[in-house]
Amino acid sequence: MGLALDPEACYSNIRDVVAEAKQHNNFVRIDMEDSPYTQATIDIVLRLHGEGLTNVGTVIQAYLLRSREDVKQLIKAGVNLRLVKGAYKEPASVAYQQMSEVIDNFKTLIQMHLDQGVYTAIASHDDRIINWVKEYAHKNGIKASAFEFQMLYGLRMSDQAQLAREGYRIRCYMPYGSMWYPYYTRRLAEKPANLWMVVKNMFK
Ligand SMILES: Cc1cc2nc3c(=O)[nH]c(=O)nc-3n(C[C@H](O)[C@H](O)[C@H](O)COP(=O)(O)OP(=O)(O)OC[C@H]3O[C@@H](n4cnc5c(N)ncnc54)[C@H](O)[C@@H]3O)c2cc1C
Repeated sequence: MGLALDPEACYSNIRDVVAEAKQHNNFVRIDMEDSPYTQATIDIVLRLHGEGLTNVGTVIQAYLLRSREDVKQLIKAGVNLRLVKGAYKEPASVAYQQMSEVIDNFKTLIQMHLDQGVYTAIASHDDRIINWVKEYAHKNGIKASAFEFQMLYGLRMSDQAQLAREGYRIRCYMPYGSMWYPYYTRRLAEKPANLWMVVKNMFK
C-alpha cells in the first residue's frame, strides 16, 4: 500500500479501501509487518478511527515488548485486533527471544481482551494457546462468541473443523486472486520451515 515509500500516500490508499468497504458493510484488517512499521501502522488505524472509519483493525504481535501498551491504547480506542505470536526475526531490544516468554505474553494480551469483554481474534496453530483459551473461557464463564480462532488455509484443517463442531468461531485466512503465488513465496521466504509444514499437510 506504499508505507515504505510515502506514509501519507499509503494512508490515502488505505482510506479509499476502508471507505469502500464501509459502503458494503465490510471490515478491513491491516496485517502487521516487522517492527519498523509497527507505529506507522497503528497510527494509520487510529487516524481512520478518528475519522469515523471504524471498520478497520490491525494485528498485534505477542513477541514485541511494546505490545501490552499498544493493546491498552487500541482497546481504549475500540480497535478490533488480531493477536499473533509474530512472524519476523526481531532483535532483543524490541522483542522477547524465548518462545515461553512469547507464549506468556500472548496469554496476557488475550486475557486483557477477554476480561474486559472486548472481542478478539486469536490467530495461532499452537495447541498450547488454543487449549489455554478454551480452558480460560470455560473457567471464567466467557462465551465462545466473545472471541474467534484464526488459522491459515491448509494448516490443521481437520482441527479447524473440529473447533467449529465444538461451537467455537474459526476463521480461515486464505490468499486468493492472481497474486497468490508472490504472496505464498514471500511467506516461505519469511519462514522456510513453513514449506515442510505445507507439504506435510498436503498429504494429511
Ligand atoms: C490468520 C493469521 C494471520 C496472521 N497475521 C500475521 C500478521 O499480520 N503479522 C505477523 O507478524 N504474523 C502474522 N501471523 C503469523 C504468526 O505471527 C505466527 O508466525 C504463525 O501463526 C506461527 O505461530 P503459531 O502460533 O501458529 O504456532 P507455531 O509456532 O508455528 O507452531 C506452534 C506449534 O503448533 C503446532 N502446530 C503448528 N502447525 C501445526 C500443524 N499444521 N499440525 C500440527 N501441529 C501444528 C506444533 O506443535 C508447533 O510446534 C498470522 C497467522 C495467522 C494464522
